[in-house]
Amino acid sequence: MKFGDFELSIVRESTLSLDGGAMFGVVPKTLWEKSSPADELNRVKMHCNLLLIDTGSAKVLVETGMGDRWSAAERERYGLETHVAPEDAVRELGLSPEQIDFVIISHLHFDHAGGAVRLLDGKLVPTYPRARYIVQAGEWDFAFKANARARASYRPDDFVPLKESGQLQLVEGNTEITPGVFVRVTGGHTSHHQVVYFESGAEKGVFFADIMPTRSHLNPPWVMGYDHFPLTSCDVKSEYLAQAAEQNWLVVFDHEYGIPWGHIVKGEGPKGKFEFRPLPAQSLISTAQIC
Ligand SMILES: [Zn+2]
Repeated sequence: MKFGDFELSIVRESTLSLDGGAMFGVVPKTLWEKSSPADELNRVKMHCNLLLIDTGSAKVLVETGMGDRWSAAERERYGLETHVAPEDAVRELGLSPEQIDFVIISHLHFDHAGGAVRLLDGKLVPTYPRARYIVQAGEWDFAFKANARARASYRPDDFVPLKESGQLQLVEGNTEITPGVFVRVTGGHTSHHQVVYFESGAEKGVFFADIMPTRSHLNPPWVMGYDHFPLTSCDVKSEYLAQAAEQNWLVVFDHEYGIPWGHIVKGEGPKGKFEFRPLPAQSLISTAQIC
């Protein structure tokens, strides 16, 4: 999809199902199940959506998804369906992994970093051999010292090989990665969780990552039970949503099962609710797929 001078594409890397209670924190099921119906194991279905931003001078992949290094038992637990192996994720868009210049990972949980590396001849190697992998320094440090509650979401195998290959680029705070593409630290989900803000011409957009994983999380207090700092998430969401609505940003949800991108409108009056207006389904078909 055209976005100013940029070209944007979505890759639906995998489908997974996570516990609905964990996805909506303190929100009662009687409320969340209206927008996110639960299966017989109380899980809600989601995608891992990767965003490719082609600025014309750089190709930036946002997130890497779950990857395919999962046992049968884990696949069953997460209802995981891998749609595309890591080495083929950008091939769907007519690109080879060698063409990716930057890979931005919002945080190092396994559903975001799992596809960062792949198995090659029994060894874990970066999936994108030329790319610089952008991670917040604070997130990197935390991944190695997470306590018992937080630790289960990190698998060092997903990211240690990035350091070993010399492709890891740690950044501290808000940073411009390439002209028009920025990371912004939000905290909330993890203390150094980052979103990706991008702009070209008159267009502005944001990839919310896990600060707002699906359209059902639009209401600021509807934050995930997984969040380390839920009150921060609520505040940050309110700020971003207000800006997104006011300036007509394109917003992208990393785990939305339906159309994952669109715009935000705010209802009338001070109590007006934020609403999501998805783009038409055709917007998901990339130029490569049309050709
Ligand atoms: Zn996630």
